[in-house]
Amino acid sequence: MSELNISNMTCPLPLNDHPRIKMAHGGGGRMMQRLIEELFFAAFDNPALRSGHDGAVLELPEGRPVMTTDSYVVRPLFFPGGDIGALAVHGTVNDLAMCGARPLYLSTSFILEEGLETETLWRVVQSMRAAASATGVQIVTGDTKVVERGHGDGIYINTTGVGVIENETQIRPGRIKKDDLIIVSGDIGRHGMAVMGAREELAFTPPIESDCAPLWNTVADMLDAEIDIHCLRDATRGGLCAVLNELAQSSGLQFDVVENDIPLAANVRGACEVLGLDALQVACEGRFVAIVPKSDAARALEMMRAQNDSAAVIGRVTDGEAGLVTLQTPIGGRRILDMPAGELLPRIC
Ligand code: MG
Repeated sequence: MSELNISNMTCPLPLNDHPRIKMAHGGGGRMMQRLIEELFFAAFDNPALRSGHDGAVLELPEGRPVMTTDSYVVRPLFFPGGDIGALAVHGTVNDLAMCGARPLYLSTSFILEEGLETETLWRVVQSMRAAASATGVQIVTGDTKVVERGHGDGIYINTTGVGVIENETQIRPGRIKKDDLIIVSGDIGRHGMAVMGAREELAFTPPIESDCAPLWNTVADMLDAEIDIHCLRDATRGGLCAVLNELAQSSGLQFDVVENDIPLAANVRGACEVLGLDALQVACEGRFVAIVPKSDAARALEMMRAQNDSAAVIGRVTDGEAGLVTLQTPIGGRRILDMPAGELLPRIC
């Protein structure tokens, strides 16, 4: 995995004579052409992008193609542990991984606000490049639009991902069965709290960093080991709580989880308590839930722990009441864990 450290790099010279994004009628047409060539092509270089065609002609290995799309509007653009560029790559790549698909290609569309510093765009694009190369995806086509000052928040990004399921594994809610075990791939709630801390300028001690990360490598290890994965889902909006409720509902089964078994870092727990937030509802961007047969759970957990040692079995599936999620509390009681009523923290991805 190659990570590019952009924190101590600066925007290369050619862009410095265009410090801010302009609208086309304000002389921005030629500037945009240079941005495309000197910034986007240079960062995402690959034959499909360089072909200069209206669309990317893709080579797909044998298997079932998967496509997914997402838009990213996080505020602020940079936060501890990540930024909108890393999020725009990891978020979409992770949705492919949750289908059991090897991520291969991304498209990306930028909506830029007039007046944005090109240095900021450059940093975001370098972060996308690093995230894409860490997961082995190519950014093969894209688009850029500029909107008037005051009509955007600097940068919005959309990415669409294409991947391929290379084996016969069927990973979907319909395969969840009674007695399956529920595993979470690491400690929860870090992304939402990191973004909120950056937005509200809160200083957490120790600082909370986003968990923003690619998930495909862990899933690939599990598939290679022929673990019979029944279902996967990344715990993004609505956090772990939303994932458990969605999957209990779509499988028509009951999920029983144990609160004490859910991994939660002390600083995230503390920050949630102070702010009156339920950590189970706080978004992650690099954590997922795997539902596997009991017989495969130990091996699955071992693979997830190789990437993150806080991965844990948190509960099991029963044939109780369809769609119900229950939580065993630390004092031994059991309560219903409802679907989050609304968005706890807006604009976190
Ligand atoms: Mg998802």
